[in-house]
Amino acid sequence: MSDDIVFDRSFDLAPGTVDEVAPGVRRLLCDNPGPFTFRGTLTYIVGRRNVAIIDPGPDDDRHIAALTDAVRGETVSHIFVTHTHRDHSPAASKVKAATGAIILAEGAHRASRPLHVGEAGRLDAGGDQSFRPDRTLADGDLVEGDGWALEAITTPGHTANHMAFALKGTGTLFSGDHVMAWSTSIVAPPDGAMSDYMASLHKLEKRPETTYLPGHGGAVRDAPRFVRGFIRHRQGREASLRHRLEKGAADIPTLVRAVYIGLDPRLAGAAGLSVLAHLEDMAARGIVTTDGPPSIDGTYRLDESGRAPLAGG
Ligand SMILES: [Zn+2]
Repeated sequence: MSDDIVFDRSFDLAPGTVDEVAPGVRRLLCDNPGPFTFRGTLTYIVGRRNVAIIDPGPDDDRHIAALTDAVRGETVSHIFVTHTHRDHSPAASKVKAATGAIILAEGAHRASRPLHVGEAGRLDAGGDQSFRPDRTLADGDLVEGDGWALEAITTPGHTANHMAFALKGTGTLFSGDHVMAWSTSIVAPPDGAMSDYMASLHKLEKRPETTYLPGHGGAVRDAPRFVRGFIRHRQGREASLRHRLEKGAADIPTLVRAVYIGLDPRLAGAAGLSVLAHLEDMAARGIVTTDGPPSIDGTYRLDESGRAPLAGG
């Protein structure tokens, strides 16, 4: 399995404490560690005196209290949300009530594609269904505050409504869960879509920002090169799936065992969905077939023609 990304899992911020991670950017760690959240969700505070908050975090009263403490004596004008997973957005309404700030995001939570029978429950599990922004943002929108300006960049893939935010004039980008230093991003249908995720990686790779501040874990340095590593990593996974399917039809549990070596059992479900994300993309490109729409229970085989090019090839 080709995997040439060097992950950086060093991270030394304690929950509830604030540090200045870049000039004019503070961060606060929520105490919600786990296999998907690493050490917890990071909330960023941009600016001084008149500030913006990025990803207020889960509906966790201790975190919300620590956040309002961190900005005591300052004015919070904007709350930006990268995406509507429950570890990022639910605190927005309470922080808005406490500060009077407006909430900005791409939009409400939604699936990346129409749901198949039986999928609704899975979408509900991680999504913040009640989230509504006060102002929706489109790709390229620039929001200017007091001493800071953030450019909204649509980066669907992890979720349909995922956005990154570039802090203008600094070479820094808030990457949410799209690009993180400690792990690859979860791309799980129907929330996520692999074709969108790959397009969003290619989009960021071409941008000038070199430091990313993600929703979990430490900063991503030399970011465009790191993004290229993620592109290669997914292309490698697709090649592994294709290699296994050359030996015959397989279901998703079989494919997970074939391509994930030494998988943390807590992540088996996510790995299955990640494989489904690849298979959806490969089916759309005519590389694999299955009966009906690609589903978690399906059996997959290489398309008869089987000669479609590899992703990016
Ligand atoms: Zn997420």
